[in-house]
Amino acid sequence: MKIVIFGPPGSGKGTYASRLEKRLGVPHISTGDLVREEIRNRTPLGRTIEKYSSSGTLVPDEIITEILKKRVASELSRGFILEGYPRTVGQAEQLEKITRVDVVVNLNVPDKIIVDRLSARLQCKSCGAIYNERTMKPKVSGKCDKCGGELFRRVDDQPEVIRERLRVYREASEPVVDFYRSRNLLRDVVNDDPNADPGQIVDQILKLI
Ligand SMILES: [Zn+2]
Repeated sequence: MKIVIFGPPGSGKGTYASRLEKRLGVPHISTGDLVREEIRNRTPLGRTIEKYSSSGTLVPDEIITEILKKRVASELSRGFILEGYPRTVGQAEQLEKITRVDVVVNLNVPDKIIVDRLSARLQCKSCGAIYNERTMKPKVSGKCDKCGGELFRRVDDQPEVIRERLRVYREASEPVVDFYRSRNLLRDVVNDDPNADPGQIVDQILKLI
């Protein structure tokens, strides 16, 4: 089974993808994780990405696709749950060249819920793990459960910045949603309850795929 989890920043893509990984026994591939790994291992691709990020420019589609290709190629028999990709129609077309996907889950979450959730988000400086002051607190305040690293609030998790990120996301994502809808692969999941249990959303997703 080849699944894409699609949705705005803060819609819970990563959480649902890792739960689906356990339920379906299919690996969760996060392009965010793959990118961090390349940077950590100081690979040629990792160095190129660092150059883009330190100059504040967006990492080009081809570089992200290059990283993804390696990982997806190793999972063609088992399938995957892909999250963080594709973000643009260009990337969706690239993915189509690598492999056919079975279903694209489109998470619909109202902006207000996303702003509330993201502005409570904390990230580990060392390993990148994500926590939430309200819903997913670390065991020890300010410290990562996994590696003991220091937790911090990202600058892009300020409310005004989040609203701008959502605007940019919608602009780029609408064509991607249309792309998959026209191929009859899109399944909409609506989550407008801020206290919804992630398990219920996962059940909803499992019914649709
Ligand atoms: Zn950590």
